[in-house]
Amino acid sequence: MKNSDSKPPTPEEISKKLADFMKSSFGTDAHFTGFPGMGDDQEVPDSGEPSDGPTHRDEPIFDFSYLPKDIKRHLDRFVIRQEDAKKALALAVCDHYNHAKYLRQQGDENIEFAKQNVVVLGPTGVGKTYLVKHIAELIGVPFIKADATKFSETGYVGGDVDDLVRDLVKRAEGNVELAEHGIIYIDEIDKLATRGNMMGRDVSGRGVQTALLKLMEDTEVSVRNPMDMQSQMQAMFQMRNGGGPSKDAVRTRHILFIVSGAFSGLDEIISRRVGRKAIGFEAVKGREPDKTSSLFREVNTGDLIEYGFEAEFVGRLPIRVVCDPLASKDLCEIMETSEGSIIRQYEREFEAYGIKANFERSALRIIADRAVEEQTGARGLMTVAEAILRDFKFELANSGITELKIDEKLVKNPEKTLASYLELCQDSDTQMVQREVNTFCADFQEKHGIDLTLELGAVRLVGQRSSNKNMSAMAWCEQSFGDFQFGLKLIEKNTGRRAFTLPSQAVDDPEGFLSDLVLKSYGDQSSATSEPEAP
Ligand code: ADP
Repeated sequence: MKNSDSKPPTPEEISKKLADFMKSSFGTDAHFTGFPGMGDDQEVPDSGEPSDGPTHRDEPIFDFSYLPKDIKRHLDRFVIRQEDAKKALALAVCDHYNHAKYLRQQGDENIEFAKQNVVVLGPTGVGKTYLVKHIAELIGVPFIKADATKFSETGYVGGDVDDLVRDLVKRAEGNVELAEHGIIYIDEIDKLATRGNMMGRDVSGRGVQTALLKLMEDTEVSVRNPMDMQSQMQAMFQMRNGGGPSKDAVRTRHILFIVSGAFSGLDEIISRRVGRKAIGFEAVKGREPDKTSSLFREVNTGDLIEYGFEAEFVGRLPIRVVCDPLASKDLCEIMETSEGSIIRQYEREFEAYGIKANFERSALRIIADRAVEEQTGARGLMTVAEAILRDFKFELANSGITELKIDEKLVKNPEKTLASYLELCQDSDTQMVQREVNTFCADFQEKHGIDLTLELGAVRLVGQRSSNKNMSAMAWCEQSFGDFQFGLKLIEKNTGRRAFTLPSQAVDDPEGFLSDLVLKSYGDQSSATSEPEAP
């Protein structure tokens, strides 16, 4: 502690000072109840510090029995692409925990053990954190993430790298032994590289590297921050009351460290060495093979040292994993197939407001294209989707609208589409017609296996036509579209389409509209009025 040479205050003095402070700051209603052990009926406010003592001693410590293939299979459910990274990480994690298990079983402190910490290289938002988070969840170990920049002024202001370990203990709800098998993930590690940086950052970057180095090897970190007076006091009282020595140090020997960063400029160093040209991640659009990723796959220790890392630091990170940038088609796949897809999230959110949201592939393609332009990887998907859909969620929540079709038209012109939905909400007659039309379309689908929908204008027109004839909307649809399956099946045969959206013209002149559509299907396979079925 900083004031180690001045005489520390007694517990009673500290308690009195804190009680006075509580009263003066928060009034007479506030009380400071003291530390444990100072009286039978005294409680301690939750300090967020680990609950040590014998409680966790009896629990079995973390065990490990996964195969690399089990981990890869689990990751495949959530993470799209990044095949190499999934394999390499699955293997690194299995090796690490199998080693740990072996050493525990042998109980021999002297067995030599080279820790296999990992460095992940890749641009932002492509799944680096996502991979590690899902691994930790699967194998049941605590996981924390921090940015290396947080520690830039270590020793002067900023965070203390030892806090990483203490945070892991908190994440493990105080179970020190479980925390000793946790994963610490540090992003933006490239910011600690000293090459070409300003003087101040150089010193600090190197300092943090040295501090991390110790953690990454085998050291012990006190569960309690030496600067945190309250937790120190708790420990002291516990000892005084005969609580016995609790496990108050965390050994880092089996904590897996994974560091990551975009490492911009590293590709140039590698390319100079291997004699090939580099292009930045930013240059990767569409389906081009990525030169930066393939160069990163050739990174060696010398490159990382030249980039600005200390040799010892690089030496503690023997496993290198590369994540690729994501192209538009990958982002589409993420939305369509990842179990963590934002589309599922939106569907749930709309459903909570009584709305069935149907995303069409045409809309997803546009969202993916726009997200690529954001250059934040899959994170861009949320930004783009939110900009389009936020007002729909706000305005249509419990409005009586039960279905929202998110198609190309909506994505390209959200304001106009929202306005027509709102008009529909205000018009209760149209809503009734819409319900009948929906029933007709559902019957049609069931009988003929063809998806039929009517544009909003068409629904309104059905309302007018049916009331002119004193018919229900349902009966009018039966009469006008009841035989549409013959023509539509022909089109399906010609083009493979099985989903059709009918515009107002179809209500105006059902037969004429259908025969035009059939004719077109023999020549032109695309039609402005019909929706292509997803292949
Ligand atoms: P970073 O690479 O910067 O660590 P993250 O892993 O935090 O990025 O990705 C941000 C979010 O984007 C994730 O929470 C996840 O929802 C989504 N995401 C990123 N990459 C993928 C991917 N390859 N497959 C599926 N989802 C992804």
